[in-house]
Amino acid sequence: MNPLRQRIVLLGPPASGKGTQADRLSSTFGIPHVSTGALLRTECARGTLLGREADAWTCKGLLVPDELAVRIVAAWMKENGPRFLFDGFPRTVTQAEHLDKALRDLEAPLDLVILLELPDEEIRRRILERISCLACGATFSASLHGHAAGDPCPRCGAALVRRNDDTAEAIEERLRVYRESTLPVVGYYQKTAPSIFHRIDAGEGSDAIFAKLSELLEDNKDEG
Ligand code: AMP
Repeated sequence: MNPLRQRIVLLGPPASGKGTQADRLSSTFGIPHVSTGALLRTECARGTLLGREADAWTCKGLLVPDELAVRIVAAWMKENGPRFLFDGFPRTVTQAEHLDKALRDLEAPLDLVILLELPDEEIRRRILERISCLACGATFSASLHGHAAGDPCPRCGAALVRRNDDTAEAIEERLRVYRESTLPVVGYYQKTAPSIFHRIDAGEGSDAIFAKLSELLEDNKDEG
């Protein structure tokens, strides 16, 4: 499968499954999965200046400054070109405006914006259960999959961890930040790109969500 148009933004609160779905879509459709959170964690693990700067915000559940998020995405696009499945970007209206401008300059408009919706209670439950692999980006539910921090990742073998922002305190901050800064991005796309905007209930099973997303990507191919 090789959709003609391959610029997709996945929006949604923390733990709505953006990363998991983006990974699956990326393998199936061959579109690069770009998680700004993962890019920032890599910088942080490498101990770069950008990583240290970002960690001061991320560990508290706060967004890094727009300038930093835009910079890391611009660097990624310069290296990889305008084919992407963004997970966690844009997270503010300013970032969305920057993305629009960059894509206008490249004459490469967005093809799809998809919002994964999930109630706060379910977000809290999922985050407190979440065990992550920072090496390959896989995530697991402690109770569902029986993995704990320190176990080897079943996918790549690196040690699983609890992310330092997957804490009860940071969740509340991340939910507040989502409502304040990222929900306006939903309004932005509803207004500026209603024909490519879609909502999906992220409380359904992972396979059902994947099927719906795949349908949107395939529809997109037919239109292209
Ligand atoms: P995520 O892995 O998407 O949950 O992101 C983890 C953290 O990285 C967020 O809580 C923010 O601190 C930071 N982050 C990721 N993407 C962005 C972005 N587009 N703008 C600002 N901060 C971001």
